[in-house]
Amino acid sequence: MTEASLLTLDLDALASNHAVLKAAAGGGEIAPAVKADGYGLGAALVAGFLWDDGARAFYVARLSEGLALRRALGDRKATIYLLDGVTPGSAPAIEAARLTPVLNSLPQIEAWNSHARGRVLDAALHIDTGMNRLGLRPEEAVVLTGAMDRLKFLNIGLVISHLACAGEPGHPLNARQLARFTEAAALFPNARRSLANSGGIFLGGDYHFDQCRPGISLYGGGPRDVPDARIKAVATLEAPILQARVVPRGESIGYGAAFTAEDTTRVAILAAGYADGVPRAAHPRGAVWFDGARRPILGRVSMDLIAVDITDCDAARPGAMMQIIGPDLPVDDAAAAAGTTAYELLTRIAPRARRTVTGG
Ligand SMILES: *Cc1c(COP(=O)(O)O)cnc(C)c1O
Repeated sequence: MTEASLLTLDLDALASNHAVLKAAAGGGEIAPAVKADGYGLGAALVAGFLWDDGARAFYVARLSEGLALRRALGDRKATIYLLDGVTPGSAPAIEAARLTPVLNSLPQIEAWNSHARGRVLDAALHIDTGMNRLGLRPEEAVVLTGAMDRLKFLNIGLVISHLACAGEPGHPLNARQLARFTEAAALFPNARRSLANSGGIFLGGDYHFDQCRPGISLYGGGPRDVPDARIKAVATLEAPILQARVVPRGESIGYGAAFTAEDTTRVAILAAGYADGVPRAAHPRGAVWFDGARRPILGRVSMDLIAVDITDCDAARPGAMMQIIGPDLPVDDAAAAAGTTAYELLTRIAPRARRTVTGG
């Protein structure tokens, strides 16, 4: 029992997901994505644990994340890939923290190469194969290989691309991106290759190459945005009941009077709201899990509170903990009920939730 929302990380589940992804990747290296503070679960904790479990390379997005992760990993010789690459002015800090930038554009290549001048610095190269976010276009990669002095001081150890529709195996963009990636990566025959995120790993062996970069399925989200029996819940978010009350027929609950009781309704008021990471859009389809059943959220989600239907539930007493996400309420389901994804739900679990760890 606790007085506030509680996030429990199950390290045994994390290890199990890591093993499942490793097996599915068929021997390719697993380089976990730990950006956004390890998808909200704590990058230092997650990366430290996965290092002990065999991971040797990690992906972050922002420079600040890379610097923090390098500090957290101490003298462990992890490769930390920086997805944002070399942003203006960041080269000295990237080098000092021994981060490996993922170079996304010709200007980024120029910046890192001129910073390296006279030495050789490691880098990865991002080729855009259809996402149209970051990365060189394939034709720019061709131009680059015709002007190798632009890479004179760089050791391009890895070429990556990122799949736009990996969660939809039948989407035609997957095969198109695979073909473009295979062709573009061949321009850099000495570099290792990496294409697959969580979803990509389950698209089959053609997508695995030398390294896979799973994030969400390490942390309990299915590779296709729906629960997957192979993937275990890592994060459990719970909150205690503050008060149980009876709402008479015809009265409303919460802001905007958005829910009106059609019958006498027993409700539990939980110490959890959108400031704890319960999506405000969980109204009207969301639920929590308690005493063996889904209990609908009634009325709008407030900053600090939600109301939950406990009409047929005798076990609901102040102090009892209800599950918001976890083994009984998969994060993909909770996210879908709020019109979002496991990615957004996990990364929005707020600092106010107390944190604890089991297993490992
Ligand atoms: C976030 C990210 C990943 C991990 O994706 P998941 O869908 O969470 O497995 C891999 N590669 C890149 C480039 C990313 O930005």
